[in-house]
Amino acid sequence: PFAARPFSRGVASAAAAADPIPAEETFQYQAEVDRLMDMIVNSLYSNREVFLRELVSNASDALDKLRFVAVTEQGALKGREELEILISADKDANTITIEDSGIGMTHEQLLSNLGTIARSGTRKFMEAVKEAKGDTNLIGQFGVGFYSAFLVADRVTLLTKSHEDEAAWLWSSEAGSHQFRVKKDDGSAGAPLARGTRVVLHLKEDAAELADPVRLARLIRQYSQFIQFPIKLYTPTK
Ligand code: ADP
Ligand code: MG
Repeated sequence: PFAARPFSRGVASAAAAADPIPAEETFQYQAEVDRLMDMIVNSLYSNREVFLRELVSNASDALDKLRFVAVTEQGALKGREELEILISADKDANTITIEDSGIGMTHEQLLSNLGTIARSGTRKFMEAVKEAKGDTNLIGQFGVGFYSAFLVADRVTLLTKSHEDEAAWLWSSEAGSHQFRVKKDDGSAGAPLARGTRVVLHLKEDAAELADPVRLARLIRQYSQFIQFPIKLYTPTK
């Protein structure tokens, strides 16, 4: 199990000998990112639905970036023409999935965007938490970003595929673990991704009620009404 393995730069395997990229790499969150995650979870617990706004806005940003690139780069849309956001809830698996067909991330971008570099808004958020002194409505107005996923999930996996990278990458992290892992897509995060990003939230026990399409539809209306791309809520087929 993950908890039993010490921090390392990944496990060597026979396959990895021929491949310069190890089968799986484990990374420590940068200290400020780690602190931010703690602050989000501790200050927004009564406002935790903001995770959806944050993940949908990341999806929308990624679609915007792709649309921009596609103006000059022919073939950027190849393999997946539709620009869309797909959201589903699976009650049995206790998961929520948010997928976009946006720009995706290369291996390098993934490492720097999620875990290594604290975003520019971090300081502002931290200051707001101090000033608001527990006024979560005020704090909830701030964009707190990707890590708000850990408000509702004890495990988050993110599969991403950039048009600039041949491989798709699977990022995963457990709440409170201080670490994240990255490996090449091995099929464990569902169907292969032609391009874009799929975030799977493995819900905390006390957030299980969120795996409900009706509830999700209401949250999408409440938080994401100004998103410029179609948001499709679907039921996973078994
Ligand atoms: P922000 O959106 O304010 O930059 P976030 O914490 O929400 O901060 O996201 C951090 C970074 O991770 C983003 O800037 C982006 O580069 C990357 N990212 C997050 N979600 C996605 C996504 N769905 N597709 C592509 N990149 C993403
Ligand atoms: Mg964001």
